[in-house]
Amino acid sequence: MPPKTKPAAASTFRIGYGWDSHEFKAGVPLKIGGIALDHPKGLGGHSDGDVLLHAITDALLGAVAAPDIGTLFSPSDPQWKGADSAVFLEEALRRMKDAGYEIANVDSTLILAEPKIGPHAGRIRQHLSKLLGIDSGQIGIKAKTPEGMGTDNAAIAHAAVLLQKSSSGEHRSQKKRDR
Ligand SMILES: [Zn+2]
Repeated sequence: MPPKTKPAAASTFRIGYGWDSHEFKAGVPLKIGGIALDHPKGLGGHSDGDVLLHAITDALLGAVAAPDIGTLFSPSDPQWKGADSAVFLEEALRRMKDAGYEIANVDSTLILAEPKIGPHAGRIRQHLSKLLGIDSGQIGIKAKTPEGMGTDNAAIAHAAVLLQKSSSGEHRSQKKRDR
């Protein structure tokens, strides 16, 4: 007998993928994964330019088939000018919980010429673990330099997430709003 297939909405697992890039710009602070890194240039963009948080946010939104980050937080909307990207991530997490899912794990790759991410990866993982409400052992951060890509003046981030049905099996957004 062939295995039974479930409709997409009732899947035990959902996968999500996000990608983002921002150009380096002098005179703005560099923020990656919610952590301020000491560097002469930051990332330009309408918000704080946090390329890693944007990729993870889009991965979470995509996993629950929600609108993408640019649709929810339009770059032409003045209220998001200079915004802390943690706000975008929180909205994606709210939508994920509303859909009845929790994060199984997150993996990511940063591609940038400078600064070196290795020395900061531990701090970024710790911070992401707080923002995402998961253990740092569920978060992968990898970094590469853009060999032969000609993107030395940009930071690029890829993120993949795996969601699983919430262990409580219920939608928990109400509880979160009561905080
Ligand atoms: Zn972005």
